[in-house]
Amino acid sequence: MLRRLQTHLLGAVLMCGLATAAQAQTPSTAERTEALEIYRHIVSLDTSIEGGQTPAMANYLADRFRAAGFPAEDVHVLPLAQTAGLLVRYRGDSSGGRPVLLIAHMDVVPARRSEWERDPFTLVEENGYFFGRGASDNKAGLTHLVQTFISLRRENFRPTRDLIIWFSGDEETSGATTMALLGEHRALIGDAEFALNADAGGGVINPAGQALYALQTAEKTYASYSFTARNQGGHSSAPREDNAIYELAAALTRLRAFQFPVMHNDTTIASFRAEAPLDQTPTGRAALRFAENPGDRAAARTMSRNPYYAAQLRTTCVATMLSAGHAENALPQTATGTVNCRVFPGVALADIESELRAIAGAGIEVALIAPANASDASPLRADVMGALSAALRANHPNAVITPYMSAGATDGLFFRAAGIPAYGVGGIVSADEEDNAHGLNERIPVAAFYEGFTHWRVLLTTLAGRN
Ligand SMILES: [Zn+2]
Repeated sequence: MLRRLQTHLLGAVLMCGLATAAQAQTPSTAERTEALEIYRHIVSLDTSIEGGQTPAMANYLADRFRAAGFPAEDVHVLPLAQTAGLLVRYRGDSSGGRPVLLIAHMDVVPARRSEWERDPFTLVEENGYFFGRGASDNKAGLTHLVQTFISLRRENFRPTRDLIIWFSGDEETSGATTMALLGEHRALIGDAEFALNADAGGGVINPAGQALYALQTAEKTYASYSFTARNQGGHSSAPREDNAIYELAAALTRLRAFQFPVMHNDTTIASFRAEAPLDQTPTGRAALRFAENPGDRAAARTMSRNPYYAAQLRTTCVATMLSAGHAENALPQTATGTVNCRVFPGVALADIESELRAIAGAGIEVALIAPANASDASPLRADVMGALSAALRANHPNAVITPYMSAGATDGLFFRAAGIPAYGVGGIVSADEEDNAHGLNERIPVAAFYEGFTHWRVLLTTLAGRN
């Protein structure tokens, strides 16, 4: 769902100098033609929850993988209710270690033909852009993975470790296909060491021509709770002390005053270090002091006044919806508030719930509205940073990387929750910030689309090749 970096990262600074400059290997004409054909076909399939063509997409891609020489026993379409997932194993010789997962999603957010300027389910190339639903989120990144697998296989590239593609079929809705993979079909991914996500991470080119890349290494967990006060009610002409609306209001007022403890991880410290020097406000200076000493309470207090920094410092829970009462002349029998939390990586949801119960008090029922997955931040790994740096520099020699924690959510969080670190390392870097993922007239620059093939080729051959 959330792919490109936040605008505040536009000023980001450098992180890593581990990589050697990779030879830029631009895709051949044949490769571009084949990739465009695949991209065009999968955009034509309406893989939204309404369109229902995700199984058709999984089968189409499975055919392409088999036609490119992947043995049938390594290509698995996994149907689940109205959708499906696709898993493809590219066998290596294991000399390079445990398998690496490569993830993307096949489904898209619905798009109405009547509201779009062009047919959302026809890939249109115009004025240097590809337009279409999924053109950016996530069918471009997915095509990068498909074509890179097919091309490497044809070249007889033998990875030093297994590379396993996982394309989910419902990332934009329930995430059930990925949960099923990690539950019922866990054997298919073996002892995978980490996952690279084509649906997160990405870069922008600033006006000075520098590529600024945000590497997603953590996501806050999205969890909503209901606060409910109940009362026997009665006639409003004879009010009593007890009143469901006042009790709920008092509980939400206590929540307003409450702050969860300050936390930090590798990712947030690295991102403060990268961003803060460019922010000459007292908040920016405080963030820099916090990065040097996360025990600096005064710095944390200053940062807490800024909503962006506050969200990076701790779990947040905020009232977002209310409903109460049944008649203007009756004492309310129920009053319910919705509280939306973004939970800091590594915090157990049970801890959040018991904290909320304590804040709400005995008279208020607190309940989790829908199941949520808590996840840890993924550690910054030198091998992933090095390979990403090489991949970026193949297209953008002056690229700089900063890690970031997003407020959720992508499939990466299911893998993190299952103990598999996940890194958003998508191959799209462009000066165009208006990709309109999820919105009208979704698009991606044509040049950025083609550069993505070089990005993934360098990533995979660095992590699973003989250097
Ligand atoms: Zn997405």
